[in-house]
Amino acid sequence: MQDIIIVGGGIIGVMIARKLSQYDLNVLLIEKENDVGNVTSMANSAIIHSGYDPIPGTLKAKLNVLGNKQFDLICKQLDVDFKRIGTITVCLDENDVFKLEALKNRASENNVEAFLLSKEELLKLEPNLSDNVVKGLFCPSGGIIDPFNLCVHCMENACENGVKLHLNEEVINISKDGELFSVVTNKDSYKCKIVINAAGYNADKIASFIEKIDFDIIPRKGEYFVLDHFDDSFLNHVIFTLPTNKGKGVLISKTTSNNYIIGPSSEICLKDDYSCDKLTLDSVKISASKMFKNIPFNQTIRTFAGIRATPSTHDFIIEPAKSDKYFINVAGIESPGLVSSPAIADYVIDNLISPILVLKKKKNYNPNVRKYVHFLKLSLDEQNELIKKDKDFSKIICNCEKVTLGEVKDVLNRYVKPQTIKAIKKRTRAGFGKCQSGFCQANVLDILANYYHVSPLEILYDKNGSNIIYSLTKNNGDKND
Ligand SMILES: Cc1cc2nc3c(=O)[nH]c(=O)nc-3n(C[C@H](O)[C@H](O)[C@H](O)COP(=O)(O)OP(=O)(O)OC[C@H]3O[C@@H](n4cnc5c(N)ncnc54)[C@H](O)[C@@H]3O)c2cc1C
Repeated sequence: MQDIIIVGGGIIGVMIARKLSQYDLNVLLIEKENDVGNVTSMANSAIIHSGYDPIPGTLKAKLNVLGNKQFDLICKQLDVDFKRIGTITVCLDENDVFKLEALKNRASENNVEAFLLSKEELLKLEPNLSDNVVKGLFCPSGGIIDPFNLCVHCMENACENGVKLHLNEEVINISKDGELFSVVTNKDSYKCKIVINAAGYNADKIASFIEKIDFDIIPRKGEYFVLDHFDDSFLNHVIFTLPTNKGKGVLISKTTSNNYIIGPSSEICLKDDYSCDKLTLDSVKISASKMFKNIPFNQTIRTFAGIRATPSTHDFIIEPAKSDKYFINVAGIESPGLVSSPAIADYVIDNLISPILVLKKKKNYNPNVRKYVHFLKLSLDEQNELIKKDKDFSKIICNCEKVTLGEVKDVLNRYVKPQTIKAIKKRTRAGFGKCQSGFCQANVLDILANYYHVSPLEILYDKNGSNIIYSLTKNNGDKND
């Protein structure tokens, strides 16, 4: 029997799992995908927003600001790349300056430091801003993060502290049996005292297992360009257009790996529709080019889409089911969900769990994840030292991103094991470069097949059915082939 079952291993589920792991509890996280953070939490802008934009008084505003403050410590503990480079929201029309001023007032109400800057002041910070820019709002506490390893390292640390993780397992029903819930998956069934529904844009479906719900989750897609590393000084901050009623607007930003990201669009879509289309991407291109000069779209190495879980209530839905305080919905977590995630976890534990369950701190809780190896970030002496200890660090398996075999073996030797080529890519960056896995995919495929003792035919790129190799061209041992 579990004390708590968390449904969903996106950033919300894993952040709650990690914060719960400091208590003496049996916690199980169930995730339908073959990795944590493999849905919305990996396909977003990866901005640690300052909190100038959400409407004052909402949960979004409160939890965004509280969450933002936690990231320096969390990223140190979890060994995740994070840089507070600041954000600038630009106004491109004199007639819209009042909107920027309204944002500045909102920032003040939300207790967020924000400065209105003139065109001249902006150009000193960002020389490549377009001539159209008339004014901007600078928020120094905004930042950029590695969203992939944030999820993975967070879950890893939760597991190091005793949380159990079941991947590849889909929750298909939940019912109440006396005092306990019965959580049924496609593989098994489990009893628990408390269910936390952190199922992203499927949270409406999970919530309706227990009662008729009074909210909807509307999937809304955002499409992006990713550019290769080309010039570190091209851009220094995250640059946004003015927000609209469809979201925060288009942005251009560096990523923590010194790529550039441009997007997102915002259009209602079907759940699980991750397609990108030229028309939408062209509109992103036009919006971005209005605020920034000479964006080298010819350096595009990838386009991708993420899906927002837009709530019909216009705010995060973090509350117990109407009929059962032991069933907790954490639903409609659209942007700024990533930055709010640590504060959402605190809110759930302090306000919704602690009144119904005795929480006793563990003596041996360790908030620091076992350090990961980042070979490229080491000095030459440190690299040589590492190679002396383990020759696998001298073998480069991804030429573009200079990832070593040693690093891949390190991530395989963890609780949250990568099972696919994409899972290795998210953890180590093998495949993130200009050739987009052209060279390293075969290497990674071999490493995975050897590690799991399976045929290379069984290795997936990502989801079920994404096998890389469909059949062998020669049958082993058949001399006539
Ligand atoms: C385009 C875009 C841009 C964004 N930009 C930002 C940003 O810059 N900054 C920011 O703070 N936020 C941003 N966000 C929002 C942020 O990404 C989300 O708020 C956050 O990732 C939501 O996390 P989640 O855990 O709720 O959802 P998810 O990451 O979707 O996780 C839910 C998990 O539940 C699992 N699941 C679903 N059903 C079941 C089931 N039946 N059984 C088991 N598991 C199940 C899913 O597989 C999934 O892994 C953006 C979002 C989008 C789409």
